[in-house]
Amino acid sequence: MRSWVEVSLGRIRANFRAVKAVVGEGVAGETVEVMPIVKADAYRHGAVAVSHALEAEGARWLGVSNVEEGVVLREAGSQSRILVMADFLEDEREALEAHHLTPVIHALEDLAAVRVPYHLKIDSGMGRLGTRAAPQEIARAVLAAPAPLEGLMTHFASSGNYESNQTGEQVEHFARVLAGLRSAGIEPRYVHSSATIPIAYRRREAWGNLVRPGHAIYGYVSPAKNGPRPVLNVAPALTWKVTVLEVKDVPAGALIGYGGIHRATRPTRIAVLAAGYADGVPHRLGNRGQVIVKGKLAPVVGAVSMDLTTIDVTDCAPVRAGDAVLLLGSEGGVSINAQQMARWAGTISYAVLCGIHARVKRIYVD
Ligand SMILES: *Cc1c(COP(=O)(O)O)cnc(C)c1O
Repeated sequence: MRSWVEVSLGRIRANFRAVKAVVGEGVAGETVEVMPIVKADAYRHGAVAVSHALEAEGARWLGVSNVEEGVVLREAGSQSRILVMADFLEDEREALEAHHLTPVIHALEDLAAVRVPYHLKIDSGMGRLGTRAAPQEIARAVLAAPAPLEGLMTHFASSGNYESNQTGEQVEHFARVLAGLRSAGIEPRYVHSSATIPIAYRRREAWGNLVRPGHAIYGYVSPAKNGPRPVLNVAPALTWKVTVLEVKDVPAGALIGYGGIHRATRPTRIAVLAAGYADGVPHRLGNRGQVIVKGKLAPVVGAVSMDLTTIDVTDCAPVRAGDAVLLLGSEGGVSINAQQMARWAGTISYAVLCGIHARVKRIYVD
């Protein structure tokens, strides 16, 4: 294989258990349900395998982005409730209902057409999807809707930034809407607003009785700005490996790759790796990133090409064509995770994971 990821389903299950342990009994002693988010093919870990593992671990809800992702899980036999979080198009309504997917409704005018229990998204200040209507207006529309409101939800824009008031303001806005609905006699079964960060930094007032962790399930918690210490312990579930196609020695002065952006300053041993930006290796790792070769860091030299990446293995233990090196993972006490790769590439860990292309094979390990 040219390039593949090894996904530890045992690690994913352990991460799910760790989230459950943190949220435990919620604020009022009520159990907080954990809905793992498996959108974008489970952040590229493979939604079907990941969902089956999580269901075996007791997950009763899964969150996806769109109808198509929900249908894939149903067709693979998922029995959980599945929440479709990023809206649906009118021509997907039939598939949504036929596959017993649960929609999130984002605009009051869409309530008149809803025929199945739904969750309603409040834009509490993020300025993306969700209704910004006043509580009384929302209550009226919910009471007039032909199907029952099952969940009330919102999403935070800046939960990792403890120097900002935005999350506090969003929590307050959401609480006002919930209070307005309650005073109109509406009690949603589920109330939820927390993704990974408010779970990991224990912002309990934001948990409601359901939380929606994505990143944490795959082993990541982003650092918070001026925040408390995270209380959640998770570890990455994915290791990304790539095969060495060729090893060669070039003289001092030789140029490496497109644009000749690297010139060898000494006699250099180059290894050519069988993955490039078409596989999800960020193009910006050119001359900046590192990989792990036999338990030691080796720098990316030259530009990352579409299908190939060149590294300097002069200082590494002998490497041969056919050997595997690590783009993400740990070996010999050295590790590179998606956050580290993201820093090199000037992006975020989410984008690094979601960027791993479908042509990179997935192998499931315990
Ligand atoms: C993606 C997403 C999540 C999960 O976010 P993480 O930061 O990965 O935990 C939760 N809720 C919504 C609405 C999302 O779109």
